Amino acid sequence: MNKSEQFRQSVLNQIEQACQLVKRDPSTVQLLAVSKTHPSQTLREMYTVGQRCFGENYLQEALTKIDELQDLDIEWHFIGHVQRNKTKHLAETFDWVHGVDRLIIAERLSNQRLENQKPLNICIQVNIDGQNSKDGCQSNEVLELVHQISQLPNIRLRGLMVIPAPENYAAFIDAKALFDEVKSQHAQPQDWDTLSMGMSADLEAAIAAGSTMIRVGTALFGARDYSNIS
Ligand SMILES: *Cc1c(COP(=O)(O)O)cnc(C)c1O
Repeated sequence: MNKSEQFRQSVLNQIEQACQLVKRDPSTVQLLAVSKTHPSQTLREMYTVGQRCFGENYLQEALTKIDELQDLDIEWHFIGHVQRNKTKHLAETFDWVHGVDRLIIAERLSNQRLENQKPLNICIQVNIDGQNSKDGCQSNEVLELVHQISQLPNIRLRGLMVIPAPENYAAFIDAKALFDEVKSQHAQPQDWDTLSMGMSADLEAAIAAGSTMIRVGTALFGARDYSNIS
């Protein structure tokens, strides 16, 4: 087993154990490999051992890797902060965008998605624990945003994304409650299937609370070296 395979298997085991504890089927938790700062070759290795979904935070870095890995059928997720003037590249290059927190961003993504592409999958980012320095809409804005975003033609609204403060596990429970509340009122509940929460340090708690997609970097690739990023 090479290092990529070892690390990935160990995270898959963690997922399985976390699911067992709360009697969930492990196939209901997707593993998104967060590959920011890591070179294309590392992603290629992770792909070779079975990983298909990768998450990136920095647009320029991501575009380079997407280009270098064109030969692989990777599903690309943008999990960074979405700037209004960067939506065109996101709309044209990614399969998913997790950090949508305003209608204008969703509208731009919808307008800029190309004719021949499938609708862009998005999650609404919620500032679930009300930290004022963080991105994300407020919880009480979510239902209205869902209503508005659901009507956009080139967008497939899939669910919520949260990044609570470290060890604030109660925030995972709040996110799940909000996720369920939206689902019960959603016009297309079958499309509302993604609760993106949990990272290397807190994936068990996130899974226990109902996460359907954990975003894992460090546990899969080791520590990050940000000096590679311009
Ligand atoms: C970097 C990042 C992660 C991965 O964090 P790790 O602690 O390395 O697993 C997950 N989600 C987001 C939004 C990130 O920016």
